[in-house]
Amino acid sequence: MSVKIDLKTWGNFIGGEWIFSSSGKTKPDLNPANTDEILGYFQESSLEDVNKAVDAAKKAFPEWKRAPVPERGKRLLKTMQILEQRKEELAQALNREEGKSLNEAIGEVLKSLNVLDFFAGEGKRFYGETIPSELPKNFIYTKREPLGVVALITPWNFPVSIPIWKMAAALICGNTVVLKPSSLTPWTAMILMEIFQESGFPKGVVNCITGSGAMIGDALVKHPEVKAISFTGSTEIGRKLQALAGQRGKPIQLEMGGKNAVIVLKDADLDLAASAAALGALGSTGQRCTATSRMIVEEPVLEAFTKKISEKAKQMAENMGPCVDENQLKKVLSYIDSGKKEGGKLVCGGHRMTEEKHAKGYYVEPTIFAEVTPEMTIAKEEIFGPVLSIIPAKNFKDALKIANEVEYGLSASIFTQDAEKIFEFIDEIDVGMVHINSATIGGEAQVPFGGMKNSGMGGREMGRQALDFFTEWKSVYVDYTGSSRKTSFY
Ligand code: NAP
Repeated sequence: MSVKIDLKTWGNFIGGEWIFSSSGKTKPDLNPANTDEILGYFQESSLEDVNKAVDAAKKAFPEWKRAPVPERGKRLLKTMQILEQRKEELAQALNREEGKSLNEAIGEVLKSLNVLDFFAGEGKRFYGETIPSELPKNFIYTKREPLGVVALITPWNFPVSIPIWKMAAALICGNTVVLKPSSLTPWTAMILMEIFQESGFPKGVVNCITGSGAMIGDALVKHPEVKAISFTGSTEIGRKLQALAGQRGKPIQLEMGGKNAVIVLKDADLDLAASAAALGALGSTGQRCTATSRMIVEEPVLEAFTKKISEKAKQMAENMGPCVDENQLKKVLSYIDSGKKEGGKLVCGGHRMTEEKHAKGYYVEPTIFAEVTPEMTIAKEEIFGPVLSIIPAKNFKDALKIANEVEYGLSASIFTQDAEKIFEFIDEIDVGMVHINSATIGGEAQVPFGGMKNSGMGGREMGRQALDFFTEWKSVYVDYTGSSRKTSFY
């Protein structure tokens, strides 16, 4: 099936209508695999557009809040059905706009279907608790309440699944949303808006504005009617928004960068470890928050492992997608440069690819450095590209220490057959998501997703835990003693 590339100028989606920005400005959206190809034009929104979107969401909130929760779930189920019907089209747009392979794009859309399915089901499980009272004839229970208008600020690397998992969780809880997608991926966001529109959500429940994060993302966080912010993106921007939200007393959920490690011990199945490492490090061009960036390998198997992973990396070069834009390309190349200068041994890759099908895109070879030490820049900072560092470790304890010695704590994995070490790893590794004998990537809709340290804050996404960020608890005391009431302790 070939996708219809619609070179139209897309409006913002506000209050159920497609509206052009008051700025009168638009921006072209480019294909990173072929920068001659423009995918559409998108609004460069203004502060006025922020106000319009927040007003629309505020107006829609009381009715949406009062809608029975299973009814809200039915809207999400409808969204799931329409997304299922449009999955090929959306995956093709995702492939063209973000650059991931078509298979990876389909995988992302399928995951989004699971997320909608899960949160639709939460509409029938929106439980509180009954709690025993210290007093006779008192019934105490808790219920969840939505927060109001929430702003969702999202990155380009999962431009379908991240907006979906934030919107689904926020909406089932009864909030209304304003989505601000990455400036690099507005097309997929607007296709999602068409899908939400078709699903019959009341006008204003879901809104989306495109444009610069520094301008409209910032303004959303500061807007007095925005009651909470869920952000996914870089640690640098996340911390900035945390300060802005903190000054205004607003809850903010931050899902940020990663520097994910895989430990390979001497008893590991090296073929399995090399396959998982290649998938984790180079799949999606390494542009995953959970991408494997550091391999910490016990010295006796260092040489054999390095050989195996280099072979796998070379095999992946042909089918790997581009970096998302020129900035990202330059960033990746500059990290490769720093790896060389600081003494890493380049065992494969290390260059931009410019021949034949790569001529017009932002492609970098799958790149592996050996003999990396934990102090090197490439071992500490998030690269967000197809670059993997192999760090030697003397033993398990040494490997664990190296794995924890970074500012991030998103995901980690270990390859070994030793049950004792596996459980010690689970206990001691400072990350939000732990994998055993598998890659650092992946996540399921029903499982909490997120990181520790500089990788995350403000509660997990996905799983039932996602509801905690988007709701307040209300505690209810019902005294049914009537006229026989004699005492009040408090
Ligand atoms: P980014 O530059 O931080 O941007 C993320 C979002 O914030 C975009 O919508 C961006 O808008 C907006 N933004 C930028 N500056 C802003 C400001 N001053 N005020 C308000 N909003 C602002 O991140 P990215 O490059 O899109 O994404 C890559 C990062 O996301 C990586 O660090 C990756 O690890 C992280 N990530 C984390 C997870 C996780 O779950 N932990 C998942 C995926 C990605 P513009 O596009 O208009 O600048």
